[in-house]
Amino acid sequence: MTNKIVVIGAGESGVGAAVLAKKQGFEVLVSDAGTIKKEYEDVLTKYEIRYEAGGHSADEILKADLVVKSPGVPDSAPLVVELRGKGIPVISEIEFAGRYSQAKTICITGSNGKTTTTMLTYHLLKAAGLNVGLAGNVGHSLAWQVAEKDFDYYVIELSSFQLDGMVEFKADVAMLLNITPDHLDRYDYQLQNYVDSKFRIIQNQTSDDVFIYGVDDPIIQEELKKREIPAQCLPFGWGETFENGAGIKGEELIINLGKKSFNMSIFDIALQGKHNTYNSMAAGLAGMVLNIRNEKIRESLTDFKGVEHRLERFLKVHGIEFINDSKATNVNSTWYALESLNKPIVWIAGGVDKGNDYSALTELVRDKVKAIVCLGTDNSKIKEAFDGIVPDIIETQDMQDAVRSAYYLAKNGETVLLSPACASFDLFENYEDRGRQFKTAVRSL
Ligand code: ADP
Repeated sequence: MTNKIVVIGAGESGVGAAVLAKKQGFEVLVSDAGTIKKEYEDVLTKYEIRYEAGGHSADEILKADLVVKSPGVPDSAPLVVELRGKGIPVISEIEFAGRYSQAKTICITGSNGKTTTTMLTYHLLKAAGLNVGLAGNVGHSLAWQVAEKDFDYYVIELSSFQLDGMVEFKADVAMLLNITPDHLDRYDYQLQNYVDSKFRIIQNQTSDDVFIYGVDDPIIQEELKKREIPAQCLPFGWGETFENGAGIKGEELIINLGKKSFNMSIFDIALQGKHNTYNSMAAGLAGMVLNIRNEKIRESLTDFKGVEHRLERFLKVHGIEFINDSKATNVNSTWYALESLNKPIVWIAGGVDKGNDYSALTELVRDKVKAIVCLGTDNSKIKEAFDGIVPDIIETQDMQDAVRSAYYLAKNGETVLLSPACASFDLFENYEDRGRQFKTAVRSL
């Protein structure tokens, strides 16, 4: 019998889990090693939930029957290790919420494209009139929504950290977009651990469920050779069409599912670029699985507005297009950004290097990039990687400077792309801050 629940971390997901736990009648303690935002403190007070900040009362926490851990707290944190050592279950907010909801879940993971595909799928389901909530890495905490007003469907973005804390949770529709090495520091630098984590998206699935996956991805291909997948498998990929799945034939996106068939021109898809066509295929497939009418799917893929900081074309200044792709925090996502644009590009790149190997970009950069504006405290690796490939490589250490330099280097008809391929923590609070500073600097040109 679970009586006492401790929630570690008092952010959106932790506070949501606490609200749900309280409503379910548990004794709840929320514990945060840092500070708690005022708005969350107010919620905890309103629901009469006990909380502590600035440290953990280990003695009390170790008496919990169940611990809900925020995804930001690593499994290697001493308290988590101790809890597990004592056999106390430590689960994620999504796992916890899933135990109290009957809703159908569409869960989306991958190394890149999660937020875009989640937002697009949500847009599609909502436009079709389904009673649908948005949760996970984006939107409001799942547990909070389940506590307050449960929906019939949820579209849930899941990072590998969230997947790691899931035990009984099952996705009715699981989506695995792609896998490229990322966050390996949290996985003992073993790619297989990260791959296993991503494949938890299909855990507990049965033949009644659906698995949508990027069939062109070499890591996914390899992994599928090793696994039996119980769910109905629906691939999406570029070069071919599928009896059950989404593919591209010439310039047509074609989705087949049983007796149903859907098609539209790839040029009518709102989100441009090859990566976004993949994302649109995945979302379209989910729409077909949920029996959404073809007209509605077509309409939603056509009128989707995109997501801020992801290849966001937000302003033209004197014929120069400025694109904010601040969310591109790894080499792979920058590859897709460069691939989707026409030359010539002035590329603003750099930040905190996560062990990047830039060689994958060499050909694209040689072909399309006329100048690089480095923006980071340490730009040596980028400079070295593209020395002799791009004629102009400039170093800057603040956004205003970077934008002005890029503006000076670009001509009418050309593009300035902020797609850093790096994390933002050297000069910015986070990628959103970096993207916003970019837009502010561009607007003030
Ligand atoms: P995530 O939530 O997985 O980080 P986003 O949708 O926020 O993904 O997109 C992050 C960046 O990755 C974007 O800047 C975009 O350029 C790139 N991207 C988007 N979709 C894909 C994809 N399917 N494959 C590779 N890169 C992508």
